[in-house]
Amino acid sequence: MKAEIIAIGSELLLGQITNTNAKFISLKLAEIGIDVHYQTVVGDNPDRLDEVIEIAMKRADILIFTGGLGPTKDDMTKETIVKHIGTTLVSDDEALLYIQQYFKRSGRVMTENNKKQALVFKGAKVLANRKGMAPGMAVEKDEVRYILLPGPPHEMEPMFTDEAIPYLLGVTGKQEVITSRVLKFYGIGEAELEHRIQSILEKQTNPTVAPLATADAVTLRLTAKAKTTDAALKLIAPIEEEIRLLVGDYIYGTDDDTLASKAAELLIRNGWTLAAAESLTAGLFMAELAGEPGISSSLEGGIVVYNEKSKVEQLGIEQSLLAEYGVVSAECAAALAENVKRTFKSDIGIGLTGAAGPDPHDGKPVGTVWIGITSTDAETETFKLLLSGSRNANRLRAARFALYYLIK
Ligand code: ATP
Ligand code: MG
Repeated sequence: MKAEIIAIGSELLLGQITNTNAKFISLKLAEIGIDVHYQTVVGDNPDRLDEVIEIAMKRADILIFTGGLGPTKDDMTKETIVKHIGTTLVSDDEALLYIQQYFKRSGRVMTENNKKQALVFKGAKVLANRKGMAPGMAVEKDEVRYILLPGPPHEMEPMFTDEAIPYLLGVTGKQEVITSRVLKFYGIGEAELEHRIQSILEKQTNPTVAPLATADAVTLRLTAKAKTTDAALKLIAPIEEEIRLLVGDYIYGTDDDTLASKAAELLIRNGWTLAAAESLTAGLFMAELAGEPGISSSLEGGIVVYNEKSKVEQLGIEQSLLAEYGVVSAECAAALAENVKRTFKSDIGIGLTGAAGPDPHDGKPVGTVWIGITSTDAETETFKLLLSGSRNANRLRAARFALYYLIK
């Protein structure tokens, strides 16, 4: 079964709102194994909607419409679709009663055009709307299913989950569940990752293995279909193991984990305290960690030492060290980490320095970052990054890399 999602609304075409309805519906359909072949957006215009329906009914088995079910003149979804399915619009008693009660409850006056919202296709299954007034509906004509839903996401989303999904499961007779597990990587690019696991990507069927790069990580989504969730997870496990053998070094977590949540978990589990001296990130690193619940017993404190003077005067970095190696250097990052650890009497010290851009700093090219990490039990380590983003992207990535090296 192939589905097409048709979002109706001129404000979508004008770029004033984002088509989150299509995103939501696509994700939900994937979970029940219905493939979405097309997503279409069309303005509040009956002729163009006509055209879209003519095309869609030939290339999809399930057409899902959102928007234009309201009482106003530009809401013409039902009036347009009704012609294609050769039926009539009739007032649904239950929907009308619900609308009348809705107005009574809110103390507002019901106008004549609100009755329009209770109109449904004769013979359609009415999909109840508990968050608004316009009911949705589902109807079949010539083996094509038409599902109509209102535009506002807070109405559409629960209706889709509670009303449209059971209808679709009945239509498709599907008994399979789809389960995913996400592996999260840092410190490796998407291209390099794909290259390293090419043998797995080539033979994938069930589970499928899909790489995706987001701002904060490269991820692999392993998705399996089976009779039960447990059975699907059993299909995923051996493939995950193969992936871990090849590129496990770069995996920092799974599913909802973030670098900050994993770093916080590590600190809290071991009872370690941490302090950071931040130059280019100016507090971003600490802010990332501070967002994690339960971190207060582990965060000793931090200091932003943005220029040479503050590095020397506030943190006791040697003037001679800065003169010899420069601010953007392994030596400076190590000194920041060691001095802040000593100042705050913490178990771990972190130092961040670099040239965020747009101009080179201290003779070092834009994107050069040095991260120093020291702890009571280990020698100070330094890590160099060469980042290529904008100023603020580089600052955020530097903070995230520091979290990553802390976990590793
Ligand atoms: P209403 O009764 O509120 O008029 P409706 O079914 O007629 O509902 P529209 O008038 O098309 O829906 O859209 C109402 C609002 O819902 C829009 O202004 C927008 O905020 C939101 N909306 C509509 N379509 C989408 C979409 N595809 N994605 C996200 N939001 C949407
Ligand atoms: Mg409307």
